[in-house]
Amino acid sequence: MGKIIGIDLGTTNSCVAVIDGGEPLVLPNSEGSRTTPSMVGFTEDNEIFVGQQAKRQAIINPEQTIYDIKRLIGHKYNSSQVRKYAETLPYRIVENTNGDAWVEVNGQKFSPQEISSRILRKMKQTAEDYFGEEITEAVITVPAYFNDAQRSATKDAGKIAGLTVRRIINEPTAAALAYGFDQSDDLNLVVFDLGGGTLDVSVVQIRGGVFEVVSTSGDNHLGGEDFDRAILDFLMERFEEETGIDVREDNMALQRLKEAAENAKCELSTLTETNINLPFLAVDDSGPRHLSLSLSRSQLNDLVYELVERLDGPCHQAMKEARLKNSDIDEVLLVGGMTRMPLVQERVEEIFGKKPHKGVNPDEVVAKGAAIQSGILGGEVREVILLDITPFSLGIRVSGDRFSPIIAKNSPVPTVENKVFTTTENNQDMVTVTVLQGEENMASRNKLLGMFNLTGVAPAPAGSPRIEVSFEIDTDGIVNVSARDLKTGASQSITVEGHSGLSSEELQRAIQRSASLSEASAV
Ligand code: AMP
Repeated sequence: MGKIIGIDLGTTNSCVAVIDGGEPLVLPNSEGSRTTPSMVGFTEDNEIFVGQQAKRQAIINPEQTIYDIKRLIGHKYNSSQVRKYAETLPYRIVENTNGDAWVEVNGQKFSPQEISSRILRKMKQTAEDYFGEEITEAVITVPAYFNDAQRSATKDAGKIAGLTVRRIINEPTAAALAYGFDQSDDLNLVVFDLGGGTLDVSVVQIRGGVFEVVSTSGDNHLGGEDFDRAILDFLMERFEEETGIDVREDNMALQRLKEAAENAKCELSTLTETNINLPFLAVDDSGPRHLSLSLSRSQLNDLVYELVERLDGPCHQAMKEARLKNSDIDEVLLVGGMTRMPLVQERVEEIFGKKPHKGVNPDEVVAKGAAIQSGILGGEVREVILLDITPFSLGIRVSGDRFSPIIAKNSPVPTVENKVFTTTENNQDMVTVTVLQGEENMASRNKLLGMFNLTGVAPAPAGSPRIEVSFEIDTDGIVNVSARDLKTGASQSITVEGHSGLSSEELQRAIQRSASLSEASAV
């Protein structure tokens, strides 16, 4: 059997690891870095740069440098998150024919899956360089809070990159695997993962090599980018106050400000004050105008206070659902680059009543966990069992716009559950099954995953047909739904995977284009 690699496909940075000699090992890329910026840059001639080279061209070429694609993957163009987020991006987001959010570069449209595939290809290449052989299989991590569409889209990104995705695993679960791999004790662990785009909080019990995720909660739209944005807004306001110039429409200035904001944020994790100097940020009648100011850690803390407050809810939720008290928790593990921020660490300490563990490298621990999962699949790691859960309830819409859950939130996966429903009208020969995900009692408030009709229901008075709806979640968290009239045997099913995402033609086209677009960097 060939090697299976573990990939942390991060919002900001990605990382690849393998099991070598029974231990997880992070592999350096061709530039010698252990993590790779999750950025894809295009030239006018459609040459492509991935990683550090793309990051370098971002300032001079903001419209053709795609970052944060993970925040768009599996999303509809018209979703409120995408609409809000699109305003902050220098590159163009467009609507695909099925309503998904795609990006447009040099007049060509690319799905987020295809952009992500470029990053995955670089990770694949990194591993191939290390082993000197072709790699075709991978385990890829996603935020625990990723929904079905986002998971399926991530799998498609793998396909386009020439990888069979053997398993999608949740990032906090991967982190717990990597941390617990070396521990002999039984532990109750909280994994607090705040990355570039998402917050995930998971409670994991480790008992004799069995890793059981007992609850998971999070926020798909809270991460380092929001912190950068808060600083960016402050910088733009200050610049406008001083010069009267509004740079909101100036992509190049925005890109420079964005980079300066992120750098200042990172520096203020170790320093108490930093200087931000951006010469020639804009020009007016009086000549070039510069931005120069100092930012203190306490000013930063004020700017991001509301974001930090949003950390509490998902943490309390995860603890409540795990039915554990703070005193039951042995360790709080910090994962994701944003957990280097002192204010975030203080808040986590306040929430859980104990100092979080800082012994793991937050940039690498997820990829190492993915490598351990690869090792479990490939037979190189035998003493570990992983039991994961689904982060959302799944069910269908019933009359009166009510939501009837069939699989409860936090159920172990894989799982299959059935429930029997009936009709509301006399002689109804068809029922529409509306598949939803979420926790709201009102169906329309939950996320629509798909719809299908079950025809051939035997005519009967309302309330007498027995229609069994069956939900199945596989180990990747991907959902299959079927409905069957128990009298006639008529049945219908859908893999929710196909609902949102690439059609098979789009997938094929992306695979072909992926092979034909030239790659400028030696990835
Ligand atoms: P990840 O998605 O885990 O790679 O996390 C990336 C996020 O962590 C980005 O928003 C980074 O700006 C942020 N980050 C990285 N290093 C630091 C640091 N030293 N202090 C604060 N934030 C950081």
